[in-house]
Amino acid sequence: MINIIKKTNIGVLPILNFFKKIIQSTVHDTDHPVAPKVKIYARPEHCISRSQISENALKVLYRLQKEGFEAYLVGGCVRDLLLGREPKDFDVVTDADPEQVRRVFRNCRIIGRRFRLAHVHFGKEVIEVATFRGAADEQNDKQVLNNEGRLLRDNVYGAIEEDVWRRDFTVNALYYNIKDFSVADYVGGMDDHKTGTLKLIGDPETRFREDPVRMLRAVRFAVKLGFKVDPACENAMHGAAELLSSIPSARLYDEVLKLFLFGYALQAFEMLRHYGLFQVLFPDTEKSLAAEENGFPRLLLIKALENSDNRIADGKSVTAYFLFAAFLWEPVSQLAKEKMAKGLVEFMAYQDAANEIITRQAKNTALPRHISLAMREVWSLQPKFNARIGSKPSRLLTHPRFRAGYDFLILRAETGGAELELAQWWQRYQNADETEQRKMTQPPRKTQNSKSGRKRSYRKRPNNSAAGTEA
Ligand code: ATP
Ligand code: MG
Repeated sequence: MINIIKKTNIGVLPILNFFKKIIQSTVHDTDHPVAPKVKIYARPEHCISRSQISENALKVLYRLQKEGFEAYLVGGCVRDLLLGREPKDFDVVTDADPEQVRRVFRNCRIIGRRFRLAHVHFGKEVIEVATFRGAADEQNDKQVLNNEGRLLRDNVYGAIEEDVWRRDFTVNALYYNIKDFSVADYVGGMDDHKTGTLKLIGDPETRFREDPVRMLRAVRFAVKLGFKVDPACENAMHGAAELLSSIPSARLYDEVLKLFLFGYALQAFEMLRHYGLFQVLFPDTEKSLAAEENGFPRLLLIKALENSDNRIADGKSVTAYFLFAAFLWEPVSQLAKEKMAKGLVEFMAYQDAANEIITRQAKNTALPRHISLAMREVWSLQPKFNARIGSKPSRLLTHPRFRAGYDFLILRAETGGAELELAQWWQRYQNADETEQRKMTQPPRKTQNSKSGRKRSYRKRPNNSAAGTEA
């Protein structure tokens, strides 16, 4: 059942909101005052310079200001600029509602249902412009909670003093004002910034219930910024992981990508497991890890995460499908072995296991079709690496996923799941010239002993071979 928290119908008019606040100065939101104290850090008191801000973001801020609206940078960009890091993107917040923003910019689109936002497009760069969110009260259906307290929609507009309570962490709630280049801090974000603390605004349990994805954001920011999680926030996180299972799988997929594709995947993995969050995102992987930990010392998944972080540190790209292939390989292999024990041939066992595991995983984190297809390709290439005689190796080299498949083979070889000699052979083969390649793929000459007439197979798989038959 859905509870609808209603609000007065003046959210789109910040000026009326302002008067409402004066009249009702003691009105309280769920657990915080409507009018918090603000500390203003003037330009000389912080290190943010306009030269570090994207030109397009500045254009948006100035234009809104010129049209008589308030305009601030907020969120990750302010946090990152204060840390001397390059922001991933620039988020603007204003008292103009999305329609008003659209009227100011021709290159603007309104997106979102849960949160309506304006996107201002400048070629490839998109500046996200949000309207100040309003505080909750009882008379408006623009804010919707479900019966677990999760926010399903939040399109009530307000003023900056209300918007601040809608943000997640204090360090994400600092507002850079284009009017005088000051930073407004309503929740002690500057102090937390200095001590490197990730603190939720308001009561942690309520805030996690409102949006359980904040737990994943806590992990992401903790590892990305090297911040410690505030104890109250930590306490609320322990035991709250199951709340995540109510989040749409597509949103969880997006969050998983943000957690694992930006250079701190291994730490994120460890912290997610520490808080019991990983098992909600990847239940099959968690089960296979528990089994592995007793036996196998060098997990393929750990190695994949390490490699992925190293690649990013070296400025190389990483792909989502490769990482998902690594996450799900152990569950697929284990399930395939069970199926083989019941009599299914190896090739079919692996195919069936891949189907089952992918279908189950897609219920937790969506798996777009192009991702699941690419994962299957990487997996199905593994047995093909065993065929080293004749024309098959040269054909395999031209396979569009050869590189990913080969990298996966190396991972398996490094973690005991394939013969090291096989991986080395493929490394030599790729680097060899044509003549050498031909020599490498010739069948060994027949010896006198083998004249018996029985055809010998040169394609014998090692005992720990990956999967399926050689195609
Ligand atoms: P990143 O560097 O990943 O962009 P960010 O903090 O900017 O980090 P965004 O997802 O871009 O993250 O969100 C921008 C801002 O919006 C946040 O800093 C925060 O103030 C607010 N915000 C985003 N998601 C939530 C959420 N789930 N709950 C509350 N506030 C949020
Ligand atoms: Mg951002």
